[in-house]
Amino acid sequence: MADKPKVAVHKFASCDGCQLAFLNLGEDLLTLAQMVDIVHFAEAGPVNPEAAVDIAFIEGSISMPEDLERIRRIRANTRFLVTIGACATAGGLQALRNFANADEWVASIYARPEYIQSLSTSTPIAQHVKADLEIWGCPVNGRQVLAAVRSLLSGVSPWLEKDKVCMECKRQHNVCVMVAKDIPCMGPVTRSGCGAICPSFGRDCYACYGPAENPNTVALTQRLEGLGLVPEAVARRFHFITAAAPAFAEAGLRGGNMPHD
Ligand code: SF4
Ligand code: SF4
Repeated sequence: MADKPKVAVHKFASCDGCQLAFLNLGEDLLTLAQMVDIVHFAEAGPVNPEAAVDIAFIEGSISMPEDLERIRRIRANTRFLVTIGACATAGGLQALRNFANADEWVASIYARPEYIQSLSTSTPIAQHVKADLEIWGCPVNGRQVLAAVRSLLSGVSPWLEKDKVCMECKRQHNVCVMVAKDIPCMGPVTRSGCGAICPSFGRDCYACYGPAENPNTVALTQRLEGLGLVPEAVARRFHFITAAAPAFAEAGLRGGNMPHD
């Protein structure tokens, strides 16, 4: 019998939540284990970071000097490189330092800042090496990850949603929280894929899936201001979990005109 395709899951600067989304697949994880050999996944057990693989999943952003060399080695050792989650695709929460004085932040937090070696920015993986597929979310939706694996192994281009969360709300017949309750919501500019979880429970979307295709951030900025948000609050809406995504980085700087200090 032919060898099964090999898969690795690598971690960079992140909270491990996307790796947990893998582990939370339950029975589907057993299906995945039948389809592939997971050769490196430190959180789940196997450790072999230098193994050559067919698919390398990357969680986390480029945040420390040694990350730069490590991600290049991983790229050289894999056929497909797939980034998973807001950190890997858009810098993550830690990318808020891109708009601040990172050295000052470190000095204000650590008693001995000279021991901390971090880059002044947190950047998406695709800014440094080619990513064959980017799966968004904080954390990712495990079903999307599984579907991507199936597509890649079948030689089919994976399909990922790019619509706005609003579209998903309409499909689910959710009452719009912004129209009905005047709650500022990021759904009009945020990529769907989560099943519109937050509005389904009557709360606003906070954009954890990053920018949708063609997001009208100017119009949403005006709407948020109309709901009473001051420019700094609007900026923080865009500069949150996916702050290094260009559309949100620009919208936050335009809307708030302020550093996050
Ligand atoms: S994207 Fe969110 S859940 Fe995934 S590792 Fe980053 S912070 Fe954690
Ligand atoms: S509704 Fe928005 S914040 Fe909530 S999970 Fe979906 S994308 Fe993330």
